[in-house]
Amino acid sequence: MIELRQLRKHYKMGDSIVHALDGADLDIGAGEFVSLTGASGSGKSTMMHLIGCLDRPTSGSYRLDGIAVNRMGDRQLAVVRNRKIGFVFQTFNLINRTSAVDNVAVPLIYSRKTSTKTAAMAALEKVGLTKRASHKPSELSGGERQRVAIARAIVNEPKLILADEPTGNLDSRTGEQIMAIFHQLHAAGTTIVLVTHEMDVAAQAKRIIRMRDGKIVADEILDDAKRSALQAEAHAGSQPVGSPT
Ligand code: ADP
Ligand code: MG
Repeated sequence: MIELRQLRKHYKMGDSIVHALDGADLDIGAGEFVSLTGASGSGKSTMMHLIGCLDRPTSGSYRLDGIAVNRMGDRQLAVVRNRKIGFVFQTFNLINRTSAVDNVAVPLIYSRKTSTKTAAMAALEKVGLTKRASHKPSELSGGERQRVAIARAIVNEPKLILADEPTGNLDSRTGEQIMAIFHQLHAAGTTIVLVTHEMDVAAQAKRIIRMRDGKIVADEILDDAKRSALQAEAHAGSQPVGSPT
């Protein structure tokens, strides 16, 4: 699904260059559930923006679902994003003056689909928010807003969901409800890449990738023993892997 080869993203800051992503090689298969973790500034969001085709690499190659997206033009990239990828952000990024159902329908309008209302309502049903369809974001709780954002991310039935700190602005109980939705999507075959600095969230994935200074420094499959060890570590409060960004 995702093939990164020597992917780099550099930013010029005055006279110096920030190596936000410094030569990443990574393969993620269809249907995987991967968490991406690391301290603030380690390059997690940069990696997500590149994987999500929201930004272009300075160098290196990226194939998404067999397509060399690093060679595409802006318009083609926008089509790929719309068809293949759903995004969930820490701050929800909903349109405030618009109802939940109309927020969910936005990607459908971009893809020029008809009967947007039916599809948007179906997506809201998947996240258990049918009753809130006509509410505006300001009339919803944080957890409900994030569920609307997830409905918007899945409305085009993308193969890939990218979530950057999706539980970062939520209390732990609400965060668990959001994670339950990601587990359902994974069970239904969606590929999920989730950025989090919270170890007990990261430990819920099947595979965990750790970043430091723009590089991938660890990449492990989580079996039950490793998962319990990480969860115990998280609850002991020792060794935090990062801080909110
Ligand atoms: P994370 O999400 O892990 O906190 P980021 O990917 O946001 O890390 O940032 C990685 C590094 O790249 C940081 O040093 C950050 O300051 C830098 N960076 C990110 N975006 C930009 C940008 N648009 N311009 C300059 N530097 C940036
Ligand atoms: Mg970040």
